[in-house]
Amino acid sequence: MEIVDESFKDDPFMRHGKEPLGKSNSEVWKVARKSDGKVYARKEFPAPRRDNKEMNEKIKKEIFIMTTAKHHHIVKLCGSHYIESSQTIGLLILPVAEMNLAEYLEVWGRNHVNEFEQQKARRNMCQWPPCLFQVLDYLHDAGFRHKDIKPSNILIKDGQVYLADFGISSNFRDSNTSKTKGPAGAITERYIAPEIDNELARGRASDVWALGCTVLEICTVALGENSIEDLNEHLHQGPSSRPTPFCRSPYLVFDWIWLHLVCSGKDEFCRRPIQKMLQLAFLMLDPNPNTRINVRQLVDLLNKLGSNHFHSLGQAACDECKRTSHVPLHNFPLHSVFREEPDGSTYIPLKDNISSKTQDLWEEVKRRWLVSHIWWEMKR
Ligand SMILES: [Zn+2]
Repeated sequence: MEIVDESFKDDPFMRHGKEPLGKSNSEVWKVARKSDGKVYARKEFPAPRRDNKEMNEKIKKEIFIMTTAKHHHIVKLCGSHYIESSQTIGLLILPVAEMNLAEYLEVWGRNHVNEFEQQKARRNMCQWPPCLFQVLDYLHDAGFRHKDIKPSNILIKDGQVYLADFGISSNFRDSNTSKTKGPAGAITERYIAPEIDNELARGRASDVWALGCTVLEICTVALGENSIEDLNEHLHQGPSSRPTPFCRSPYLVFDWIWLHLVCSGKDEFCRRPIQKMLQLAFLMLDPNPNTRINVRQLVDLLNKLGSNHFHSLGQAACDECKRTSHVPLHNFPLHSVFREEPDGSTYIPLKDNISSKTQDLWEEVKRRWLVSHIWWEMKR
């Protein structure tokens, strides 16, 4: 197999456990190399036939992205191989995650007996959005879109987050435009941006939308008052077996953001950072991709020393993120700045007269929320 590093007649690795670590379009197993016992996560899938050009290209692309995109919040590809006896391809990945973010949110969204552990988990969660902004900024800057950002594609190991699963990502540098048209293919429905749902052009802004949904889920669980299941019920207006996509009900999404802005939460320490993250989630979930904040602006906001409103959030990122990015390098103008109270608290606009019937809901709320409102035009 020329698309992988090595070929083996028999598998030189041994699987750990009876169940894979993860399962989507392929299985991920914890494996150990028989010769030296070194442990990896291995993404396994059946080797495509030589004439299956599409599949071969897909694998090549995933390997290319994972070898090109190097960041402390992206899983590392340590090798790829083909096993003749089982006709499978294996991608060796590090770190071996403890769980993914979807599982983490599910575990810590429930009530625990051990309040101390739960508090630790909540505080941990507050660090992740700024780290995730950094890694998405890195990806977009390097010319990649992830295209399937969701909690189950974010892995957790030793309190750190790692972006994984580049199976359907693409590099947009090769084409004249960073947008692709048409149906979303294998993308996860729950986190799809409105522009994808409407089969309009999708670009980097769609990644920001999906991350916005993820940040909203993190805030929900970190506040400690509601679970993801509660969020689903809210979005669906009642119990549902299938999670409702965020983009289908802008008003209910806004309502959830607002509800949590005024909620005091279980831990005083987390309340203010979460309020700020909710403000950012609001900008990330702008239904209009042209006015939606981009990730470069998010990072700028967090790094701006002059604006301490969001700067404190940037300070919550991991040490490596703080080390590599603590000055406003880009200074892309923002089209909106949130109003900040003199005591440093967050101004929360009244929800009066706002309903699902409100025309241009996001614009109306922005108007109430912002001190200055300077529009900018940017290429995405
Ligand atoms: Zn970080």
